[in-house]
Amino acid sequence: MTSAELTDGAHLVVDALELNGVDTLYGLVGIPVTDLARLAQASGIRFIGFRHESSAGRAAAAAGFLTGRPGVSLTVSAPGFLNGLVALAEATTNCFPVVQISGSSERHIVDLKQGDYEELDQLAAARPFVKAAYRVSRAQDIGRGVARALRTAASGRPGGVYLDIPAAVLGETLDADRGAASLWRLVDPAPRQLPAPEAVDRAIELLAGAERPLVVLGKGAAYARADEVIREFVDSTGLPFLPMSMAKGLIPDDHPQSVAAARSLALKRADVVLLVGARLNWLLGHGEPPQWNPDAKFLQIDIEPTELDSNQPIAAPLVGDIGSVVGALVERMKPGRITVSEAWRRELAERTEQNTAKMAQRLAADPHPMQFYGALRAIRDVLRAHPHTYLVNEGANALDFARNVIDMQVPRHRLDSGTWGVMGVGMGYAIAAAVETGRPVVAVEGDSAFGFSGMELETICRYGLPVVVVILNNGGVYRGDGVNPASADPSPTTLSLTARHEKLIEAFGGRGYHVESPVELAAALTEALESGRPALIDCHIDPTAGTESGHLTNLNPSVAVRPS
Ligand code: ADP
Repeated sequence: MTSAELTDGAHLVVDALELNGVDTLYGLVGIPVTDLARLAQASGIRFIGFRHESSAGRAAAAAGFLTGRPGVSLTVSAPGFLNGLVALAEATTNCFPVVQISGSSERHIVDLKQGDYEELDQLAAARPFVKAAYRVSRAQDIGRGVARALRTAASGRPGGVYLDIPAAVLGETLDADRGAASLWRLVDPAPRQLPAPEAVDRAIELLAGAERPLVVLGKGAAYARADEVIREFVDSTGLPFLPMSMAKGLIPDDHPQSVAAARSLALKRADVVLLVGARLNWLLGHGEPPQWNPDAKFLQIDIEPTELDSNQPIAAPLVGDIGSVVGALVERMKPGRITVSEAWRRELAERTEQNTAKMAQRLAADPHPMQFYGALRAIRDVLRAHPHTYLVNEGANALDFARNVIDMQVPRHRLDSGTWGVMGVGMGYAIAAAVETGRPVVAVEGDSAFGFSGMELETICRYGLPVVVVILNNGGVYRGDGVNPASADPSPTTLSLTARHEKLIEAFGGRGYHVESPVELAAALTEALESGRPALIDCHIDPTAGTESGHLTNLNPSVAVRPS
């Protein structure tokens, strides 16, 4: 047999991915996957090489959310695998479809713990953190393994899948025809799931009888790409709606039925609540009073049946994909069956008006040094003029304030800390948004949050991506005025007060700006966005601005004895 008639594991992985429409790999090379990345690139798959696997994994996760097809990341064994696993666990928690492929060391050495280079039982390590973990042990199973991983990631509730491919399998040869015949292309990787008509009628009945109904749109609704039918449902019923942070823009934030500015009142008073791709987890106070009306009835649309009743009784379970379920609601409700009383509308409108006026007042102030609100007003105004810009947002105060100040006009254009409220997603998400869409991206980052993925500035510059990083720099974790009463060391919450982050991007050929006022910030951001080139704006904020843990101060345990 000549080599022309042979193939090997690495080629088969590439062929299987290509056959299933994977056009981009996010990864970091090393033993044993370097050739795999080269082969992928040679065959036309784009390989985006990162500086840390967690950023590669986060990019793949964001790609999954943005495209509806699993993003794929590639890592080396043990430590690289573990770095990526953080992102994979996070993606699973966020319900984003993603597959992490990692090379692994020799099975017979790992299993006897003989001490191999980067020895780790990766399959076992991955299992508790992911939707599913699979290993391919023979080259002839690569097609099956890739198909199974992609199917599992995308179908039902999306999530993270780990695919373990030992080095020996990547190097295993087999007959080329036999290899080609072992691959297949998935048919309908995420099939529609239709609700039963009686479940739909039960939900309509409850909504029709509501005095103070509310719709909550979550990132599952954004992910479902059912934009038009959701809009039709909301418009035709007149129901007030509240978008969770990554559902902002699914219906434009300036829509008159949005009650984002009257959130507390809406939760406290609503008597019938329809959850659309949103979990009643900590982000929604578990549906508990006093945040919620104790008599509220919950209706929930979710593709995952076990999500229902996880926190509160679900009076009308609607299991299915959001497009099909909302489509069925629209189809089965008689015109005028669901209405919203004038009293409820007025109550929400009055609170919206009051809160909007308070916010306008906060935003109008222009103190020096700059505060979060001044900076965010400038960013908001620039983004209003560029509504198709993708927005990545992480931090404590930088997240909480930006979420409320920056409106979104289009679906799936906001990526943030997500269900875990994690820091470190920034650059990975920004890179994926730019790579997958080719559109400009603005990452609004706290200075602490930025630090977790800051080295990816080099990646942004290496690929020349249209990403503008804005660092709201108050010199600290939460704020920059922490005090250490015991020694000259900085306090646990203090970072470098005089840091000039813009110099980091200059090191890699990007454009750096340092700004100290909203006017300077608006000018820098406009110029950077219009250039379409990598840029970083270090935005000097008052070190005393912000609160500990942003809006989550209440989650800190209060220690019994404070350090003196
Ligand atoms: P948020 O944080 O915005 O409130 P969550 O991440 O808590 O949103 O909730 C998203 C929910 O959406 C998950 O429970 C997930 O199972 C569900 N989901 C994801 N995709 C779909 C889909 N296509 N159809 C129905 N439900 C979906």
